[in-house]
Amino acid sequence: MANKGFSIEVFPPKKDEEFDHAYEVLEQLNELAPDFISVTYGAGGSRSKKTAELASFIQNQLKTEAIAHLICVGLKKEDLLQTVNELQVRNVKKILALRGDRPRDMTDEQFNARDFMYANEMIAFLHENTDMEIAAACYVEKHPESRSLAQDLDSLKLKQDAGASFLISQMFFDNNLFYDFMDQAKAKGITLPVHAGIMPITNAKQLGTTISLSGCSIPKALADLFAKYENSPEDMRKAGVDYAVKQMQDLKEHNVDIHLYSMNKPKMAAEIAEQLYK
Ligand code: FAD
Repeated sequence: MANKGFSIEVFPPKKDEEFDHAYEVLEQLNELAPDFISVTYGAGGSRSKKTAELASFIQNQLKTEAIAHLICVGLKKEDLLQTVNELQVRNVKKILALRGDRPRDMTDEQFNARDFMYANEMIAFLHENTDMEIAAACYVEKHPESRSLAQDLDSLKLKQDAGASFLISQMFFDNNLFYDFMDQAKAKGITLPVHAGIMPITNAKQLGTTISLSGCSIPKALADLFAKYENSPEDMRKAGVDYAVKQMQDLKEHNVDIHLYSMNKPKMAAEIAEQLYK
């Protein structure tokens, strides 16, 4: 893998008719020459084939390393192996192995029926039974279900021990939290490379959805931007991009690899990459 220290995440569109556009989006994002592009897996698994299709396009048509996300909520061992098999047939060699969240329409019984309770168990199984390279998720401000960062890092260590070979972080908006996380992870014996997840916040709606669900904190500087540009969407967009660029420049100076949550917006990603690599 060429190492530019810059990778991108995309998601499969919800509607089939938007699919052709997704390929165009990928072509444009690929012009930024990322080290890899990862494709999310829809909660509940309803769009899982779409993850494989997009990952295949990235790997085989665009000739860029693809990472397919895969979750174990709602899936049995056999389903996981079948999905991995479909990916391998398409020459996709890397997965991001996740537990997944409980979809709103899933009962307790369905949620608890999975073969693996936690991602580390799934990683151990896939590591033992497939040739896939496996990445795992980490949380700079701890996973919302964890009591403390220390407890969450114990879980993260289990993922390393199970065979994960690198980590991609949840988004965060204060780099000091990331550096502190890295120090604490190191103290726990976690030595895997971490790709820092950055999500540019370009509209107020993102605050209500993505960020609140993730449990990430909003620093005052970012909250002030929202307040200032509340009624001015174009200024909000620009300020959000600038904020992300500053965060990324600082990470780059600290030799941290960056994973951009592109939200399938190639224009925004290009603006960011241009400022970052000019
Ligand atoms: P786990 O590592 O299993 O952790 C879940 C919770 O359980 C944590 O609190 C952890 O500390 C605790 N825990 C873990 N192991 C143990 C153990 N052995 N014993 C006791 N407690 C334990 N979701 C999707 O549906 N599709 C996606 O494509 C997707 N992509 C993502 C990409 C990234 C980079 C990130 C950060 C998240 C992504 N998610 C995705 C969300 C993810 O599925 C949720 O955050 C989910 O709640 C946790 O997944 P995990 O793999 O980190 O779980």
